Amino acid sequence: MSIYNLGSINWDHCYRVSHFVRPGETLMSSSYQLHLGGKGANQSVAAAKAGASIVHIGSVAQGDNAPQKLQSLGVTITGIREHADEATGHALIQIDDQGENAIILHAGANRAQNMQWVAEQLCEAGSQDWLLMQNETNLIVESAELAKSKGMQVAFNPAPMDRELTLRLLDKLDLLIVNQIEAQDLTGTDDLDAAIAQMQHMAPNLALLITLGSAGACHCQGSQRHQVKAFKVDAVDTTAAGDTFIGYFLANISAGQPVSEALRQASAAAAIAVTRAGAIPSIPVQREVADFLA
Ligand code: ATP
Repeated sequence: MSIYNLGSINWDHCYRVSHFVRPGETLMSSSYQLHLGGKGANQSVAAAKAGASIVHIGSVAQGDNAPQKLQSLGVTITGIREHADEATGHALIQIDDQGENAIILHAGANRAQNMQWVAEQLCEAGSQDWLLMQNETNLIVESAELAKSKGMQVAFNPAPMDRELTLRLLDKLDLLIVNQIEAQDLTGTDDLDAAIAQMQHMAPNLALLITLGSAGACHCQGSQRHQVKAFKVDAVDTTAAGDTFIGYFLANISAGQPVSEALRQASAAAAIAVTRAGAIPSIPVQREVADFLA
């Protein structure tokens, strides 16, 4: 049983500045940090830390060491292609003295996936396996169609939300994972029950996982509904809480755990992640989650 994650890989370049750079200005930063991220990479690392066999499908610039970093965190990187003509996806993040940020995001190699490459990576995949995707790469619909033709199960986290694409994909998905804002963008309502009813009307067989920040999460399939409260913790930084939740949830589901247990594990992992700064460094390993729940 494997999870194949067609997902982004980004380098986040973070600069501390006194103010955001103005037109024509050259500004010295007072500090610089480089972090590996991207929703795809974050979710792959979370699934790997949860103990899943996770194959990341993606691409980076020639010679980039991001794949080795992912490998050191337990992710299988045979599906990551080096691209001769594209930069690795990256963000230039200015953080000012008030803690506000201004971001330039360049998708680069993330939006230059190649269908033949994706098909080669999925050649041995079958009905026991999952394809996971977020909306930070190209070839989402094509890859979902291919995965379904192989009997795979398909999970999609439409972040950033593209309503049209998501609606087009619904009948090819087994699991749709959204946060509250994405659920609202998709359905036009901020009433959770109404949003669920609308999504279930659009795709009656689809399982829905809706994360609700500090209010927990909710999983619905047909008339079955499982709700989990968030664990009470001192939140420091919620970056990648959703990615941690998704990686842990899918790792548990693909390992045959019932939905209620997968929700409990994911909720604990995400609660630990929000007590720590950063994205990938904040994601706990399985042992930490077990200790938290003991
Ligand atoms: P992000 O974009 O920051 O990764 P998201 O918007 O995709 O997050 P959320 O719904 O905010 O996802 O959070 C995901 C999960 O993380 C929640 O379902 C919950 O289990 C956990 N979580 C988030 N915030 C908190 C918090 N303050 N305390 C405990 N758990 C939290």
